[in-house]
Amino acid sequence: MADDRSLARRWAAPPAASTPVATPLQPSVVYRMEDADALDALYEGRAQGFTYAREGHPNAESVGAKIDWLEGLRPEMGRGVVVGSGMAAISAAFLGLLAAGDHVVGADQLYGKSLKLLTKDLPRLGVTATLADPTDVRAVEAAIRPETKMIHVEVVSNPTLRVADMEGIAEIAHRRGLILSVDNTFTTPRGFRPFDHGAHVVTHSLTKLLSGHSDVTLGWAGADTPERNAALRDANMSWGLTASPFDCWLAERGLATFELRYDRCEANAAALADRLAGLPGVVRVLYPGRPDHPDHNHAVSLLGGRFGTMVSFSLEGGRAAANRFLRAAGGLPFAPTLGDVQTLLSHPASSSHRAMTPEGRAALGIDEGFIRVSVGLEDAGIVGREFERAVAAAAAG
Ligand code: PLP
Repeated sequence: MADDRSLARRWAAPPAASTPVATPLQPSVVYRMEDADALDALYEGRAQGFTYAREGHPNAESVGAKIDWLEGLRPEMGRGVVVGSGMAAISAAFLGLLAAGDHVVGADQLYGKSLKLLTKDLPRLGVTATLADPTDVRAVEAAIRPETKMIHVEVVSNPTLRVADMEGIAEIAHRRGLILSVDNTFTTPRGFRPFDHGAHVVTHSLTKLLSGHSDVTLGWAGADTPERNAALRDANMSWGLTASPFDCWLAERGLATFELRYDRCEANAAALADRLAGLPGVVRVLYPGRPDHPDHNHAVSLLGGRFGTMVSFSLEGGRAAANRFLRAAGGLPFAPTLGDVQTLLSHPASSSHRAMTPEGRAALGIDEGFIRVSVGLEDAGIVGREFERAVAAAAAG
């Protein structure tokens, strides 16, 4: 009998007869074209669609459109790009918008790998950086050189939760014709929308609060004009910063509950900060919502009451007390990330800030008894009791 099976049937995709409510996961690396003219139309922007997943795929576009919306990216500004990590997002901003000979003024309390990127990696490509205190606009302005092209800051710093002078920095950037790049990972669009405050570029680690479950490594970068957004997308394609479809799919699922999670974690953070402040053995609590935080007044005006989901505190007794606390806090994992549904602990002196000298850490107020808390959405009473027990164990010696 003749074999009448055709390859068209062998490789046919199932027909899309019904519209799913949940976004489908589409891991395809490549997409079929009708003919060469159809490919031309895609590459020349006359048609919408996908060709090759490194250059873009449906799951990245789907979750990206939701971050665009959250960050207030209007259609005339173009579309942001979803990439493989928060660092990939910052890399897309630097690789897409800077060239050899350019200079960047960076905040001096950025995430550790962002500091390394600015001070160790970019110089190999001919881009130099000077660091300055983002709470002091005069220091930021003094660091600007004739070849400065960009200012890169985080709104709330890790782990001391200092609040950058965003209005002052935006004023300098606009007056001096510089690109203002803002890493909005800590604050999220629920706490602060940088484009409404003069930012030209915004980046996110979607690994953190926006995805929210510590099961995704992903980033997003967006800009205020179609030209800058095209440069970010181009950096993604050429440098291969591409996000995996599965991570994008998971992130979109996590994003569905982002506002609920954020509000609950934030309320828990405020309650925890107050509870910690009354405990024997706790020498200092840092939370921008507390009147004793050094930037409290500025946080009130800039963040409009959204003080975030992170709390830091210092234990009397240095490293030994921190170790006793971490060992006693069994239900609170010592796991240095942030933005999860569960409460997580970090010890900056041995993790994010270990590359600094003890003197450098001391200048930032980070001692060996310093603990950073990413507050989760568990019952606040239960979390508070766990902290009380672990702080008492640390103080008992
Ligand atoms: N930006 C900030 C503020 C961060 O805290 C982190 C990671 O902790 C990153 C960027 C990098 O994100 P990722 O780990 O997704 O590369």
